Amino acid sequence: MSRYDEEAKYDRPKRRTRPRTKDRPSYDDAAEAFVITRDRGRYTCWIDDGVDRGDGQLPAGRSGREVTAMKARQLGRTGVIVGDRVKLDGDATGDDGTLARIVEVFPRSTLLRRSADDDDPVERPLVANADQLVIVVAVANPEPRTGLIDRFLAAAYDAGMRPLLCLTKTDLADPDPLLAIYRPLGVESVATHQDGDLTELRDQLHNRTSVLVGHSGVGKSTLVNAIIPGADRATGIVNVATGRGRHTSTNTVVLRLPDGGWLIDTPGIRSFGLAHVDPDKLINAFPDLAEITADCPRGCTHAADAPDCALDEAVAAGKADPDRVASFRRLVASREGRELRASEEPT
Ligand code: ZN
Repeated sequence: MSRYDEEAKYDRPKRRTRPRTKDRPSYDDAAEAFVITRDRGRYTCWIDDGVDRGDGQLPAGRSGREVTAMKARQLGRTGVIVGDRVKLDGDATGDDGTLARIVEVFPRSTLLRRSADDDDPVERPLVANADQLVIVVAVANPEPRTGLIDRFLAAAYDAGMRPLLCLTKTDLADPDPLLAIYRPLGVESVATHQDGDLTELRDQLHNRTSVLVGHSGVGKSTLVNAIIPGADRATGIVNVATGRGRHTSTNTVVLRLPDGGWLIDTPGIRSFGLAHVDPDKLINAFPDLAEITADCPRGCTHAADAPDCALDEAVAAGKADPDRVASFRRLVASREGRELRASEEPT
């Protein structure tokens, strides 16, 4: 197809007197894909062999093919990030030397993002459409930092993702004291240790798209290698630098789970600003509390020192669990810290 033909196809006049679908190019034949890497204007997309399930979920990824694509002109400034579900036009065979075009980005079901901070002056969307945020925490060596866990939880709830606490090194210490802290929030957890049984964790990851976060030294890499043998040298792993220079790069590694599902590792994320997190969005993750805050003054932050916050009244009246309210408020407060050190250096 010549360049002229391409432009003629996309730049048709938009006449609104006829049904929209007849004016716009139809991409019914276009392939649906999932963006797994992004590198300077080139995207690696995954086309699942199975029929699209049509339920808005990402393809399970058991078998399929990788296709290199670029953004079509008509997308303009529309951002395309890892996890986006897109429509591809053009040559989507994935054969060597071919280049498809991303012609549409589907609405995102979830969006994990970070605020600008000292490490990176730009607010960035990180991963789209992931189901869960797996927060990897060692119960000992290094000692767990609850402030860090709170911030990861706030990021997960803000993103619309389900958090899962994955405790490592549980042979070194009793995980219960740590779990007790998060029980009032209803956070799910799995316990693991080196050379231990990973069945429970595998079940939680199965057919889901999970983003893995954790401070360095918690055993995250060991875990990834145990779940996906040979992960560090499998094909399809690409380090994607989305920032400029060493200090602002945020690397994302997308791995296909052998039995279906995707694991997205973020080894290069050095910080995780939460300034964008809105308390009102955070509280939506807790419908019982959200209902109570309908009576709050306008603009209430629901923090412990917020004047006339309806949560205080509800606790006093025995209508809300004080531990749950206190835990939620800890998440609200966790936004105030300037940054979250996800890993001091790539692990
Ligand atoms: Zn309030």
